[in-house]
Amino acid sequence: MSALPACSIVIPAHCEAAGLRHAIDTIADILARQGISFELVLIDDGSTDGSWDVIAQACRDHSFIRAARLTRRFGKEAAMLAGLQMSRGRAVIVMDADLQHPPALIPEMLRLWETGGFDVVEGVKQPKTPGILRRLFFTLNSKLTGVDLREASDFKLLDRRVVDAYLALPERNLFFRGMIAWAAYKTATLPFTPDERQHGKTQWSFRRLTKLALTSITSFSSIPLHLITSLGIVFIIAALLLGGQTLYNKLSGNAVDGFTTVILLLLIIGSVIMLALGVIGEYLARIYEEVKRRPLFFVQETLPVSECQESEVRNQVSGIKKMDSP
Ligand code: UDP
Ligand code: MG
Repeated sequence: MSALPACSIVIPAHCEAAGLRHAIDTIADILARQGISFELVLIDDGSTDGSWDVIAQACRDHSFIRAARLTRRFGKEAAMLAGLQMSRGRAVIVMDADLQHPPALIPEMLRLWETGGFDVVEGVKQPKTPGILRRLFFTLNSKLTGVDLREASDFKLLDRRVVDAYLALPERNLFFRGMIAWAAYKTATLPFTPDERQHGKTQWSFRRLTKLALTSITSFSSIPLHLITSLGIVFIIAALLLGGQTLYNKLSGNAVDGFTTVILLLLIIGSVIMLALGVIGEYLARIYEEVKRRPLFFVQETLPVSECQESEVRNQVSGIKKMDSP
């Protein structure tokens, strides 16, 4: 087996066939000019558009490519995890397959890591880009969790020890950028303006973004649960006041015809209880997922074929290790 590379680039890809080869060549070109040993770790997250064929062809053309194809679409977080598990470099850079994370920043990232002594070099999006939905999510998230992710991105360089620390986390509900910010290793930031997507379209549907938001909030904060308690207290105070007034009216003989009030109270209290149950349900669902301890992804095949068995064993071992951890 060849010597371990100094730098691994992890690229999750879901249906990126149109631009993937161009991205691979661009990134590899920049790294080659750095004069360091590197590998590209490509994870095909259940693409249905021939991305795997593009990866396989690139793998035949270059020896620095290692790749895994997941059995189905497990989501970007799982794909990144798979890539981190496969990576072997002393520094690992995670970036998107659509070139929205500018590869031109890689040399500066490596310089900050090598000579600046930083464990994490984080690409920070210039604020003008996010849409209203994302802005809402990140504002709400930073209010609830105290981890400010408003401009954070998944474009990061991680030192090997940060990667190992991340892989050792026992949780199932992973939120990459949140976890890295929370772990608080020595971090340098590097501002960038994401380029427009040149091929394909964004893979984030409203449903997936909402799921990510819920994972992020529930895995970093129990504030929503405390809010339910506060809401309960407000309702008890209101109930005491209203109850006192109703009793007083009754005793003084001028009880009003309270049909409307009853209906309104039923509706309000009913919806608040439903909402509260929903919030508790979200946490319960996370606990359920954590307790099941299912692996976060399965690997269909890996490339290059000569490394296949070794990679699969690696994968199995790390999967089992994660499952056994406390
Ligand atoms: N991606 C993935 N699995 C998914 C969704 C996205 O591997 O379920 C990859 C996608 O191929 C790309 C990166 O994650 O390399 C970022 O996705 P996208 O460009 O759609 O997100 P955006 O740039 O809009 O944040
Ligand atoms: Mg993108």
